[in-house]
Amino acid sequence: MDVTTATPAEIDTRLIELWMAQAHHRAIADSDRLSDSVRAYAAQAAADAVAEAAPLEAAYAARRWNRWYWVPKGHLHREGECSTLYASTDRNLTAAASGMDDAQIVERYGWNVCTICVPNAPVLDGFRTPGTYATAEADAKGICLNKIPAHVNRRYASPYGTCGDCDAQGIAVTSLGRLRQHPHARMAADDARKARIEDPKLIGTATGEVLKVDGWEIKTRRTAEIDWVRHMENADERGWAGNPEWQAEQRGFARQIAEALAAKDGVTVEQIEAALMPKVDAKIRKWQREMAKANH
Ligand SMILES: [Zn+2]
Ligand SMILES: [Zn+2]
Repeated sequence: MDVTTATPAEIDTRLIELWMAQAHHRAIADSDRLSDSVRAYAAQAAADAVAEAAPLEAAYAARRWNRWYWVPKGHLHREGECSTLYASTDRNLTAAASGMDDAQIVERYGWNVCTICVPNAPVLDGFRTPGTYATAEADAKGICLNKIPAHVNRRYASPYGTCGDCDAQGIAVTSLGRLRQHPHARMAADDARKARIEDPKLIGTATGEVLKVDGWEIKTRRTAEIDWVRHMENADERGWAGNPEWQAEQRGFARQIAEALAAKDGVTVEQIEAALMPKVDAKIRKWQREMAKANH
């Protein structure tokens, strides 16, 4: 590889291979249960990997291109400290994204980009999609092609691993330490998210995440409306409830639902509230009539 003409993605792809090779050979070289010749061979292989990596590391030190890190079950973050990450959080350098600027990263990775690291991500067009990366992966017919586990759990008779590519968990690991073929977990999650945005019957948060209110998942538009009316009825001063704290909480739940419905319809929260409020009024009037009857 000519480091002067190689792209950031090419250099980082090779660097990751070399880092892994080095760690692999280092572990063999450090084992006291193997013969001296095997260990000497591994030590040499580790040293070779370090030597090949040196000019690539130097190229990065000189050019300092953008690097992006994938956090399993999370988002793509910029190199450096992100307030949403703990020091111990697993993160994987995503070589394919190396050198990309903010607009490119959102185009390619859509809503998987961290909005702390890229604050203007939500206003970029690509953010309400899974990105061209996930779309390209769909060509693989929903199967994840990665065979190298990010982690292997060996506490059980049959070991299983997690996949750093698609975030799948609990995948069986073969005797050779390879992940068995598995459905692409993140793609399936992206499909579900897309459906929550695009299917008129379904509902999710503004970015298509599962809408969870008061500990319950609200799946459909219809139940979202019913729940909004119920929470607002609970919160209404004219109604039966008399606990202000609980009623404030109910109003908060209603607000969460109204925001999701507003995003779904591309209207304001106030418009959603105005459209549904007559249903609350009707329920309150019915309750007042029943109370009046009971008191006679
Ligand atoms: Zn971040
Ligand atoms: Zn996978």
